[in-house]
Amino acid sequence: MAITSMGNCARFAAKPLTHGGTPAPVWLAGLDQKSLPQLDLTQCPGLVVAAAHPDDETLGLGAMIAQLVAAGVDVRVVSASDGGAADPNATRWERTRLEATRRHELRRAADVLKVPLPVSLGLPDGELADHEDRLADLLAETLASAGPGAWCAANWRGDGHPDHEAVGRAAATACARTGATLLEYPIWMWHWGRPFDTAVPWENASAVAVSGWAVARKRLAAQCFRSQFEPGAAQSAPVLPAFVLPRLLAVGELVFR
Ligand SMILES: [Zn+2]
Repeated sequence: MAITSMGNCARFAAKPLTHGGTPAPVWLAGLDQKSLPQLDLTQCPGLVVAAAHPDDETLGLGAMIAQLVAAGVDVRVVSASDGGAADPNATRWERTRLEATRRHELRRAADVLKVPLPVSLGLPDGELADHEDRLADLLAETLASAGPGAWCAANWRGDGHPDHEAVGRAAATACARTGATLLEYPIWMWHWGRPFDTAVPWENASAVAVSGWAVARKRLAAQCFRSQFEPGAAQSAPVLPAFVLPRLLAVGELVFR
Protein backbone atom coordinates (compact mmCIF):
# COMPACT_ATOMS: atom_id res chain seq x y z
CA MET A 1 0.00 0.00 0.00
CA ALA A 2 1.26 3.46 -0.79
CA ILE A 3 2.43 5.29 2.31
CA THR A 4 1.11 8.81 2.27
CA SER A 5 1.72 9.72 5.89
CA MET A 6 4.40 12.35 5.32
CA GLY A 7 2.78 15.55 6.38
CA ASN A 8 -0.38 14.11 7.88
CA CYS A 9 0.91 14.79 11.41
CA ALA A 10 1.31 18.41 10.33
CA ARG A 11 -2.23 18.34 8.92
CA PHE A 12 -3.59 17.11 12.26
CA ALA A 13 -1.47 19.57 14.22
CA ALA A 14 -2.82 22.41 12.05
CA LYS A 15 -6.39 21.38 12.84
CA PRO A 16 -6.43 20.57 16.57
CA LEU A 17 -9.45 18.89 18.18
CA THR A 18 -10.61 22.23 19.56
CA HIS A 19 -11.41 23.23 15.97
CA GLY A 20 -14.22 20.86 15.04
CA GLY A 21 -12.72 19.28 11.93
CA THR A 22 -14.60 17.88 8.93
CA PRO A 23 -18.30 17.43 9.81
CA ALA A 24 -20.05 14.08 9.36
CA PRO A 25 -22.48 15.32 6.62
CA VAL A 26 -19.51 16.36 4.46
CA TRP A 27 -18.04 12.87 4.85
CA LEU A 28 -21.33 11.13 4.18
CA ALA A 29 -21.92 13.08 0.96
CA GLY A 30 -18.37 12.31 -0.23
CA LEU A 31 -18.45 8.64 0.73
CA ASP A 32 -21.76 8.25 -1.11
CA GLN A 33 -20.03 9.24 -4.32
CA LYS A 34 -17.13 6.88 -3.74
CA SER A 35 -19.17 3.67 -3.33
CA LEU A 36 -16.26 1.90 -1.64
CA PRO A 37 -15.98 -1.90 -1.86
CA GLN A 38 -17.06 -3.76 1.26
CA LEU A 39 -14.73 -5.81 3.41
CA ASP A 40 -15.92 -9.43 3.43
CA LEU A 41 -15.97 -10.30 7.13
CA THR A 42 -16.88 -13.93 6.39
CA GLN A 43 -13.29 -14.39 5.19
CA CYS A 44 -11.77 -13.44 8.56
CA PRO A 45 -10.24 -16.51 10.27
CA GLY A 46 -9.13 -14.58 13.37
CA LEU A 47 -8.31 -10.98 14.20
CA VAL A 48 -5.64 -9.22 16.26
CA VAL A 49 -6.45 -5.53 16.79
CA ALA A 50 -3.41 -3.38 17.58
CA ALA A 51 -4.17 -0.04 19.21
CA ALA A 52 -1.81 2.76 20.17
CA HIS A 53 -4.00 3.85 23.09
CA PRO A 54 -6.86 2.30 25.07
CA ASP A 55 -9.96 3.38 23.08
CA ASP A 56 -8.43 3.31 19.56
CA GLU A 57 -9.66 -0.26 19.00
CA THR A 58 -13.20 0.77 19.98
CA LEU A 59 -13.29 4.13 18.18
CA GLY A 60 -11.73 2.66 15.05
CA LEU A 61 -13.29 -0.79 14.76
CA GLY A 62 -15.61 -1.43 17.72
CA ALA A 63 -18.58 -2.43 15.56
CA MET A 64 -16.50 -4.75 13.36
CA ILE A 65 -15.05 -6.37 16.49
CA ALA A 66 -18.52 -6.92 17.98
CA GLN A 67 -19.81 -8.36 14.72
CA LEU A 68 -16.88 -10.78 14.28
CA VAL A 69 -17.10 -11.98 17.87
CA ALA A 70 -20.82 -12.66 17.41
CA ALA A 71 -19.93 -14.73 14.34
CA GLY A 72 -17.61 -16.87 16.47
CA VAL A 73 -14.31 -15.36 15.25
CA ASP A 74 -11.41 -15.22 17.73
CA VAL A 75 -10.62 -11.52 18.28
CA ARG A 76 -7.78 -10.27 20.46
CA VAL A 77 -6.93 -6.70 21.38
CA VAL A 78 -3.38 -5.49 22.01
CA SER A 79 -2.95 -2.02 23.49
CA ALA A 80 0.55 -0.65 22.94
CA SER A 81 0.37 2.03 25.64
CA ASP A 82 -1.85 2.75 28.62
CA GLY A 83 -2.58 6.27 27.40
CA GLY A 84 -0.93 8.07 30.32
CA ALA A 85 0.09 11.11 28.27
CA ALA A 86 -3.47 12.26 27.46
CA ASP A 87 -2.97 15.21 29.84
CA PRO A 88 0.39 16.83 29.08
CA ASN A 89 0.28 18.82 32.35
CA ALA A 90 -0.21 15.81 34.59
CA THR A 91 2.24 15.02 37.38
CA ARG A 92 3.95 11.62 37.41
CA TRP A 93 1.47 10.41 40.04
CA GLU A 94 -1.52 11.67 38.02
CA ARG A 95 -0.12 9.96 34.94
CA THR A 96 0.19 6.63 36.77
CA ARG A 97 -3.36 7.00 38.04
CA LEU A 98 -4.63 7.82 34.53
CA GLU A 99 -2.89 4.74 33.12
CA ALA A 100 -4.65 2.54 35.69
CA THR A 101 -7.97 4.21 34.88
CA ARG A 102 -7.55 3.72 31.16
CA ARG A 103 -6.53 0.07 31.55
CA HIS A 104 -9.70 -0.42 33.59
CA GLU A 105 -11.81 1.40 30.98
CA LEU A 106 -10.32 -0.81 28.27
CA ARG A 107 -11.24 -3.95 30.20
CA ARG A 108 -14.81 -2.70 30.57
CA ALA A 109 -15.06 -1.84 26.87
CA ALA A 110 -13.69 -5.28 25.98
CA ASP A 111 -16.42 -6.80 28.15
CA VAL A 112 -19.03 -4.85 26.21
CA LEU A 113 -17.54 -5.97 22.89
CA LYS A 114 -17.25 -9.51 24.32
CA VAL A 115 -13.56 -9.89 23.56
CA PRO A 116 -11.11 -11.54 26.00
CA LEU A 117 -9.03 -9.46 28.39
CA PRO A 118 -6.89 -7.13 26.20
CA VAL A 119 -3.11 -7.38 26.34
CA SER A 120 -1.61 -4.10 27.58
CA LEU A 121 2.02 -3.80 26.51
CA GLY A 122 2.73 -0.76 28.70
CA LEU A 123 4.93 1.04 26.16
CA PRO A 124 5.25 4.81 26.79
CA ASP A 125 2.35 6.86 25.45
CA GLY A 126 3.60 9.62 23.16
CA GLU A 127 6.87 7.80 22.44
CA LEU A 128 5.78 4.71 20.54
CA ALA A 129 7.94 5.60 17.53
CA ASP A 130 10.98 5.07 19.78
CA HIS A 131 9.77 1.54 20.56
CA GLU A 132 8.65 0.44 17.12
CA ASP A 133 11.04 -2.54 16.82
CA ARG A 134 9.96 -3.93 20.19
CA LEU A 135 6.32 -3.42 19.27
CA ALA A 136 6.80 -5.21 15.93
CA ASP A 137 8.39 -8.17 17.77
CA LEU A 138 5.52 -8.36 20.28
CA LEU A 139 2.85 -8.10 17.56
CA ALA A 140 4.61 -10.77 15.49
CA GLU A 141 4.53 -13.10 18.52
CA THR A 142 0.82 -12.49 18.98
CA LEU A 143 0.10 -12.99 15.28
CA ALA A 144 2.15 -16.20 15.19
CA SER A 145 -0.05 -17.61 17.95
CA ALA A 146 -3.28 -16.39 16.36
CA GLY A 147 -3.31 -19.12 13.74
CA PRO A 148 -2.74 -19.22 9.99
CA GLY A 149 -4.18 -16.47 7.86
CA ALA A 150 -5.05 -14.24 10.82
CA TRP A 151 -5.89 -10.64 10.10
CA CYS A 152 -4.13 -7.80 11.93
CA ALA A 153 -5.96 -4.50 12.19
CA ALA A 154 -3.82 -1.57 13.31
CA ASN A 155 -3.96 2.21 13.41
CA TRP A 156 -3.40 3.61 9.93
CA ARG A 157 0.21 4.60 9.10
CA GLY A 158 -1.04 7.93 7.78
CA ASP A 159 -3.47 8.85 10.57
CA GLY A 160 -1.62 12.02 11.53
CA HIS A 161 -0.89 11.03 15.15
CA PRO A 162 2.74 9.93 15.71
CA ASP A 163 1.75 7.05 18.02
CA HIS A 164 -0.94 5.82 15.61
CA GLU A 165 1.47 5.91 12.70
CA ALA A 166 4.14 4.05 14.73
CA VAL A 167 1.66 1.25 15.54
CA GLY A 168 0.71 1.02 11.86
CA ARG A 169 4.35 0.72 10.82
CA ALA A 170 5.11 -1.87 13.52
CA ALA A 171 2.06 -3.89 12.50
CA ALA A 172 3.12 -3.76 8.84
CA THR A 173 6.53 -5.16 9.85
CA ALA A 174 4.91 -7.88 11.98
CA CYS A 175 2.53 -8.85 9.16
CA ALA A 176 5.38 -9.02 6.63
CA ARG A 177 7.18 -11.36 9.01
CA THR A 178 4.23 -13.65 9.79
CA GLY A 179 2.18 -13.54 6.59
CA ALA A 180 -0.82 -12.05 8.41
CA THR A 181 -3.19 -9.82 6.45
CA LEU A 182 -2.80 -6.16 7.40
CA LEU A 183 -5.76 -3.83 7.66
CA GLU A 184 -5.27 -0.24 8.82
CA TYR A 185 -8.04 1.76 10.44
CA PRO A 186 -8.16 5.56 10.53
CA ILE A 187 -9.40 7.58 13.48
CA TRP A 188 -8.03 11.11 13.17
CA MET A 189 -8.30 11.12 9.39
CA TRP A 190 -12.00 11.72 10.00
CA HIS A 191 -10.99 14.94 11.73
CA TRP A 192 -8.28 16.46 9.51
CA GLY A 193 -9.08 14.79 6.18
CA ARG A 194 -11.63 15.50 3.45
CA PRO A 195 -13.58 13.07 1.25
CA PHE A 196 -11.42 13.65 -1.85
CA ASP A 197 -8.20 14.21 0.05
CA THR A 198 -5.13 13.17 -1.94
CA ALA A 199 -3.38 12.32 1.35
CA VAL A 200 -5.77 9.39 1.77
CA PRO A 201 -5.22 6.14 -0.21
CA TRP A 202 -8.87 5.76 -1.27
CA GLU A 203 -7.92 3.12 -3.85
CA ASN A 204 -7.08 0.80 -0.92
CA ALA A 205 -10.13 1.63 1.20
CA SER A 206 -12.92 -0.80 2.03
CA ALA A 207 -16.02 -0.04 4.05
CA VAL A 208 -16.87 -2.37 6.92
CA ALA A 209 -20.53 -3.35 6.69
CA VAL A 210 -21.94 -3.88 10.17
CA SER A 211 -25.39 -4.30 11.68
CA GLY A 212 -27.15 -1.63 13.69
CA TRP A 213 -26.80 -3.65 16.89
CA ALA A 214 -23.00 -3.75 16.39
CA VAL A 215 -22.89 0.05 16.07
CA ALA A 216 -24.97 0.30 19.25
CA ARG A 217 -22.46 -2.02 20.96
CA LYS A 218 -19.63 0.22 19.78
CA ARG A 219 -21.38 3.26 21.26
CA LEU A 220 -21.76 1.50 24.61
CA ALA A 221 -18.14 0.35 24.59
CA ALA A 222 -16.92 3.87 23.74
CA GLN A 223 -18.88 5.25 26.68
CA CYS A 224 -16.64 3.17 28.97
CA PHE A 225 -13.79 5.62 28.26
CA ARG A 226 -15.09 8.23 30.65
CA SER A 227 -11.63 9.67 31.33
CA GLN A 228 -11.54 10.76 27.68
CA PHE A 229 -15.10 11.86 27.03
CA GLU A 230 -16.03 13.55 30.31
CA PRO A 231 -14.77 16.87 31.72
CA GLY A 232 -11.61 16.63 33.82
CA ALA A 233 -10.85 18.06 37.26
CA ALA A 234 -12.33 21.53 37.84
CA GLN A 235 -14.57 20.96 34.78
CA SER A 236 -11.68 21.26 32.34
CA ALA A 237 -12.58 20.34 28.75
CA PRO A 238 -12.73 16.61 27.94
CA VAL A 239 -9.71 15.16 26.12
CA LEU A 240 -12.06 14.11 23.30
CA PRO A 241 -14.64 16.80 22.47
CA ALA A 242 -18.33 15.86 22.29
CA PHE A 243 -18.44 15.79 18.48
CA VAL A 244 -15.80 13.06 18.11
CA LEU A 245 -17.88 9.98 18.92
CA PRO A 246 -21.06 11.00 17.00
CA ARG A 247 -18.92 11.70 13.92
CA LEU A 248 -17.24 8.30 14.14
CA LEU A 249 -20.60 6.58 14.60
CA ALA A 250 -22.06 8.49 11.64
CA VAL A 251 -19.28 7.83 9.11
CA GLY A 252 -18.96 4.15 9.94
CA GLU A 253 -15.83 2.01 9.88
CA LEU A 254 -13.30 1.82 7.09
CA VAL A 255 -9.99 0.03 6.54
CA PHE A 256 -7.07 0.42 4.15
CA ARG A 257 -5.63 -2.84 2.88
ZN1 LIG B 1 -5.09 6.98 19.89
